[in-house]
Amino acid sequence: MADPLENEAEEAVREDGARQRFILEDTGFDEVPKKYRRFYRKWAGPGDSLAPNEVICPVCKVVIRSTRELRPGDRVYCMPCMSRLVVVRTPAGTLEARVAY
Ligand SMILES: [Zn+2]
Repeated sequence: MADPLENEAEEAVREDGARQRFILEDTGFDEVPKKYRRFYRKWAGPGDSLAPNEVICPVCKVVIRSTRELRPGDRVYCMPCMSRLVVVRTPAGTLEARVAY
């Protein structure tokens, strides 16, 4: 059961700039060692959508997942294809990963 007071406190922290946290579960992605599997998942196609803590790798199209909400400027690493990426905000307002050189 959720404690309403606790929720209020959490909301206040969030407005202060803290990022939403996410619990990641292993989705069976088996292209990386077991301890890293929960940080990746396969993109399921047109019906799929990205959570605030997820971006698609532009190189191998795998979904990279963070335990925290992602923001523009964040650097992420795609282990399956070994790409270093940076998160950017597109003109449409969505987050996207670009290859960082
Ligand atoms: Zn990749």
